[in-house]
Amino acid sequence: MPLRETEAIVLRTYRIGEADKVISLFSRQLGRIRAAATGAQRPKSRFGGLLEPLSYVRLCLFERENRELLRLNSAELLESFFAMQSRDYRVQLAAQYMVEAGERFLPEREVSERAFRLFLTVLRGMQARGEIHLPLLYFDYWMLRLGGFLPPLDRCLACGRSLTGLAARYSTESVGLSCAACQAAPVRQSLAAEIIGLLGRVATTRLDVLLAAEGLARMAQQARPVLEKWMEISAERKFVSLQMLAEE
Ligand SMILES: [Zn+2]
Repeated sequence: MPLRETEAIVLRTYRIGEADKVISLFSRQLGRIRAAATGAQRPKSRFGGLLEPLSYVRLCLFERENRELLRLNSAELLESFFAMQSRDYRVQLAAQYMVEAGERFLPEREVSERAFRLFLTVLRGMQARGEIHLPLLYFDYWMLRLGGFLPPLDRCLACGRSLTGLAARYSTESVGLSCAACQAAPVRQSLAAEIIGLLGRVATTRLDVLLAAEGLARMAQQARPVLEKWMEISAERKFVSLQMLAEE
């Protein structure tokens, strides 16, 4: 049984029987995987406290021949994002959304250094500011872009007209922006030019720089539903945590 060492972000854990757990992980070196943690439910387990959702850990895992499930040998906590979730329910829901989206968008066993760094950046951003709108907008934008789902944001998808400086329309049923003249798709909603401008900044600016700028959180709150609708359309499912977040 080859022993593999990897950094990983814990997505979630499932109880198996009386004593064990299965962990869903996004690992840096192996991509998205699942591993069995023997005895993890026991009070004195050596994994106690390390496997909270979104914990950043270093793991040693046994790969087992012809078995999809790896086995956890040892774990070391590198960074915990648990306290921020227990302090603030909205942060907890935002973190749950990252888990839901991650399990849907990240292909199993596909290594993505950029997606891994994105998770850490967004978690650290939320931790530093206790603010969810900009970090989640940043997450949505890059998850869509890295997954190949992000439409062009600078021109009308129907007629190709430049949207620079203009308000745009978007549909709740399809991905992409259109100009005010193109009314083809149903349920068009308006999107202010400043919101499109913000998406342009998200594309080119580090999250910590965005978080330090004044007044962007409010705009991010308006922009999030658009990208999150596109996330749901691209994932072909609704995210429960987003629904709960909208009700908060
Ligand atoms: Zn158009």
